[in-house]
Parts: sequence; C-alpha cells; structure tokens
Amino acid sequence: MHRDAGKDVLVRRSLLQEPVGGKVRCNVCERRCLLVAGGAGWCRTRENRKGCLVTLTYGAISSLDVNPIEKKPLYHFHPGTKVLTAGSWSCNFDCPWCQNWDISRAGPPFNGNYFSPEDFVRLAKQTGCQGTSISFNEPTLLLEWSLDVFRLARACGLYNTFVTNGYMTPEALNLLIEAGLDAMNVDIKGNTAVVKQFCKGVDVEKVWANCRLGRSRALHVEVTTLVIPGVNDSDESLLGIAERLVRDLGREVPWHVTGYFPSYKFTAPPTPVGTLEHAWQIGTDAGLQFIYVGNIPGHHCDNTHCPACHAMLIERRGFRVKQTTVHQGCCAQCGQQVAGVWDEDGKQCSFTGDRLQ
Ligand code: SF4
Ligand SMILES: [Zn+2]
Repeated sequence: MHRDAGKDVLVRRSLLQEPVGGKVRCNVCERRCLLVAGGAGWCRTRENRKGCLVTLTYGAISSLDVNPIEKKPLYHFHPGTKVLTAGSWSCNFDCPWCQNWDISRAGPPFNGNYFSPEDFVRLAKQTGCQGTSISFNEPTLLLEWSLDVFRLARACGLYNTFVTNGYMTPEALNLLIEAGLDAMNVDIKGNTAVVKQFCKGVDVEKVWANCRLGRSRALHVEVTTLVIPGVNDSDESLLGIAERLVRDLGREVPWHVTGYFPSYKFTAPPTPVGTLEHAWQIGTDAGLQFIYVGNIPGHHCDNTHCPACHAMLIERRGFRVKQTTVHQGCCAQCGQQVAGVWDEDGKQCSFTGDRLQ
C-alpha cells in the first residue's frame, strides 16, 4: 500500500455516466444520482468535475485482510479456501445499525492510501489465497477498481467475490460478471417498508432483481439477513423473505440469518439466539434447503446437511471447515447433488440448481 500517495491517484473517470442537460447522471447504483457541476453523489465518492463524473476512491483501501471464505459468508463456494479481502470508504445506504460504520459513514476527504490492482492480486497469491473479495463497506462504490482486480485475478486463476447490499445497477452487475465476478453474498435487510425507511429511500425490489440477474448468469449467490430486534424479526417479515427466496431464487439458495450487535445509532440489545433459531425454522418450513445461523460460533445450525438423506455434509467450527463429505458436488452417502461450487482434486464442480437448468 502506498501511503501518502496523494489523492490524485485515487481520482479516475467514472464508468456508467450519462450527460443529462448540464448535469451528469451516475448509473453505478440504483440511486442513479443526478449531479450538478461541482456536486457530489449521495455516497460522496463521486463528483461532477466540469461535466465529467469521477470516482474519488479508486484503490482507496481502508481495510485489508486474509479471511476464510466462510467469513463472507459464502458456505457453498470453495469451502475451506482463503480470500484476500479489501474494503474502501462510504456507502450508498445509511442503515442505523451498520456494523462497519467507522468506514461506511466516513466522508471525504478520504484517506490517501492507494493500493493498485496489480499489488492486490500479487498479495493474494503471495498470501496463499485462492480468491479475492471486495467487502467491509459497499463494494459497488469501488466498481472501477474491482473490475481491474477481477480481470487480473481471473487471469491468475483466482476466483472473485463481492459482499454487497445488492443495490448496484444491472449495468454495473453485468460489467462485474463480465470482468470475472464469480460469487456474491447479498444482504436482504427486510421487506419493502423496512428497507425504504431504515436505509433511506432504498427500493428492495432492485436488490431482488439483482439476485435474480446474478442467478440467471450463473453467478453463485448466497443471501444474508441481519436479524434485528424490532426491525425485521417478526414472523411475517422473516417468512416474507424466506418465501421470496424460494420463489425468486430457488430452494437451494443458502440463507444466512445472522445476529446483530448494538452499533452506530442502534442500542437495542443483541439478537437472542432463540430468534435466530426461530428464523431458521421459518426458513425450513418455507422450503429452503440450506439455512445457517450466523454470528453464533459453534451453533449446530452452522453445519450443512444433505437435503435428501440429512447426512452431515460440511461440519464447521466458527469459520473453519472441520470436515466435508461432498464428493464431486454430491452427498457421499446418497448421491444427491448439492448446490454450490466445490473443489474436487483441484477440479471445480458446480451445480446451481434445477430451476436454472
Ligand atoms: S454510486 Fe450510487 S450513490 Fe454514489 S453517486 Fe453513483 S448513483 Fe449516487
Ligand atoms: Zn444425502
């Protein structure tokens, strides 16, 4: 990382910009901000400079870490492998419970640390990672840098992942897939009213549409819902998400119901384990095959079982895979295909579910 690199290196011409009269529209995320000359977008990472939209955060890396892929969480995608993960600054949502608010609510001037895509991919290889992940804050805001990283990483045999609120435009998601995005974990934060109210005008239908788009383009998709007391923990809310997952994405899409901790503007006590177990039951009753209780290390609902014979397929302890009996993408006991992307003797084996075949 080049500290003191100065801010100019972080400023690049923004993709997906469109002149509208004397203004410029940003089509990177579904806020589709219209920026007046000299103005900034909702996320503050993009500015209209003399009629040209620029990003202020190309390669501006706030956080860098080697993580198990399970930490994203992605449970059905190269389990047991490691990813080099980068985060940047700011967000296009303003959720009052944000668990990473120190970087997501930071505004300009952004830190001048610069990390080139080449250095990032080199470090991923040097640290023995099998993939990359853009995470910690909303990765969509790092679109241009992500595209450059993904192209390089794929050429080196690494996989690429996003942990996202899913509010990129379809244009942006298509660019990411074409550059080499392989998997994403998407937050579904609640129903239409909850997301609109708490995330400041966000239309959750756009998030669902991106999940469907990803699945239709063979992207590996897993979904997370941070279960927050008083926000989205009612039976109606959880059942609504679970049924929608079955209907829109298929029974085989993994759903992570994770526990919240007080953070940023939210002081409600942490999610009770019983609430997460109840969410697990609601998902099961709705027909989902793979539901995981998250942020409760060692919980028995953190393991993967065969949807046909119920044999234990993957046993986890925290973010560590203790053992797996998935062989060539199938249950070793009964032969049932298991949705996901699995490594088998160095070869990759994928199965995205009946609905898409
Ligand atoms: S990325 Fe989204 S929030 Fe940021 S300027 Fe573009 S449209 Fe607005
Ligand atoms: Zn089985």
